[in-house]
Amino acid sequence: MTTVVYPGTFDPITCGHLDIITRAAATFPHVTVALLKNANKQPVFTVSQRLELIRRSVAHLSNVEVDAFTGLLVSYMRFKGAGLIVRGLRSIADFECEAEQAAANRHLAGVETTFFMASSEYSYLSSSMVRDIGSYGGALSGMVPSCIEEEVRAALLDINRLR
Ligand code: ADP
Repeated sequence: MTTVVYPGTFDPITCGHLDIITRAAATFPHVTVALLKNANKQPVFTVSQRLELIRRSVAHLSNVEVDAFTGLLVSYMRFKGAGLIVRGLRSIADFECEAEQAAANRHLAGVETTFFMASSEYSYLSSSMVRDIGSYGGALSGMVPSCIEEEVRAALLDINRLR
């Protein structure tokens, strides 16, 4: 197996996501971070903004690729020739939903999911927390990668102003 896929919404990417990507990249030969474009969620950041934020955050990791997909994850994985899904686990709440998704992907295509436990410093960090704090002008240091901090903060303030 040469490629694993780390799928998600990344609205926006956080230090918790980057921690999982970094650890996956140290474990597997090649990691594809795959942005899910399905319309059943209404993200705050556009697809191109989210892709750009992820790309800048992982620029130092040479075996990480960033891509976007629609439709079923298992179909995308077949297309990429990827063999394993990576997900992060923060809490029991994550576990319930992740267990369901992992079972569905195994049922659909026999694809396995592997889990990285969230590092303790990020176990309460989520994209929605970043969006809430950022939209009221709060500091995002330690929550999103420092190279995108100012851009995320400015974008969230703008979005709040337009509401
Ligand atoms: P989704 O909307 O598909 O859950 P997310 O972008 O929110 O996508 O999350 C992608 C993956 O990253 C999920 O497996 C999620 O549990 C995990 N994750 C999110 N935040 C963290 C964090 N702070 N630490 C570790 N894993 C995380």
